[in-house]
Amino acid sequence: MPETRDTVLEIDLGALAHNYQWLRSRLKPQTRFLGVVKAAAYGHDGLAVARKLQALGADYLAVAFTREGVHLREGGVALPILVLHPQPSDLQALAPNRLEPNLYSRRLFETFSHLASASGLSAYPVHLEFNTGLNRVGFGEADLDWIAQNLKAGGPLEVQSVFSHLAASDDPDAQDFTQSQINAFDRIAAAADTQLPGTHFKHLLNTSGVLNYPAAQWDMVRCGIGLYGYGNAPQYDRELRPVARLRTHISQLHHLEAGAYVGYNMGYRAPASVTIATLPLGHADGIGRQYGQGKGTFLIGGRPAPIVGNVCMDMIMVDVSDLNCREGDEAIFFGPEHSAERQAQGAGTISYELLTGISPRVSRRILP
Ligand SMILES: *Cc1c(COP(=O)(O)O)cnc(C)c1O
Repeated sequence: MPETRDTVLEIDLGALAHNYQWLRSRLKPQTRFLGVVKAAAYGHDGLAVARKLQALGADYLAVAFTREGVHLREGGVALPILVLHPQPSDLQALAPNRLEPNLYSRRLFETFSHLASASGLSAYPVHLEFNTGLNRVGFGEADLDWIAQNLKAGGPLEVQSVFSHLAASDDPDAQDFTQSQINAFDRIAAAADTQLPGTHFKHLLNTSGVLNYPAAQWDMVRCGIGLYGYGNAPQYDRELRPVARLRTHISQLHHLEAGAYVGYNMGYRAPASVTIATLPLGHADGIGRQYGQGKGTFLIGGRPAPIVGNVCMDMIMVDVSDLNCREGDEAIFFGPEHSAERQAQGAGTISYELLTGISPRVSRRILP
């Protein structure tokens, strides 16, 4: 589809570079940096972000699913890529694309082992995730014996790393819980060193882990949201630069008398005479209905214009009564001047969901 002028997600790779350098500056120089680029780099642009991180000197990338990794390889990305959540049905696509699976269960471990043997692979790099409290995917500490028995020295698989994931590293009220996860990972890491063949690096921290628990950085960290400019806390948001800006333009203005309705199901009734602007984007672009009824605001001429009524599929109406604006003027839903985090909070969600939800219908414009 050709790029449209009306609604665009601008991706500022300069801001990405700033965030990368800032996060790195908080780490020991020898700590490896994995950039998390799952879900099209949190809705930004998977290839543009991955290529930039490679140019910046990142050590590793991670995606959630195999096909996301294949897409990066097809785009020429050469960095090692960890696939966090591979499925048995797509394991055969890993080796031809040099994608490194997280083997998080016995079922996946066995399936990939057999496939690797049958394909004549040797010492193929794999990663092992352990649960320390999140209880999502991963082995338990008690599975180490089984893993050790099934990892034959000189066999098809070589454990590249052992890792876990924190559940609440952003939550200052959950420090005890996070510390218990860190302690559990310390035990697993030590046990892995004695029970598993070879050497393997260890990693635990996501963005908020890096910011709040830097002592647990081990050999590598895995940052997603921080790279995109959000730090899950105001003191970190101040240091980071939002990479994405969602901008659109006013399609039409209406002057309405008191009592007039706006939008589907008469979602808004003008309390007085008002001016309403119609914008050419809606829930099909990733601005969900939870942003309706004043929960979300656009910035027009630097001033807030609240959404009125219900978000439609392709349109959103905002109240611009107090603003001096014209048809064609720019409206910004989030960006450096209008935090996606605050916007998301107002609608009861988090920046991650807002950013990853911007649909492919919105053109991406990459700024160098
Ligand atoms: C998504 C993800 C991350 C990145 O988390 P951020 O909070 O965005 O930094 C790290 N590790 C794993 C296992 C993940 O799934």
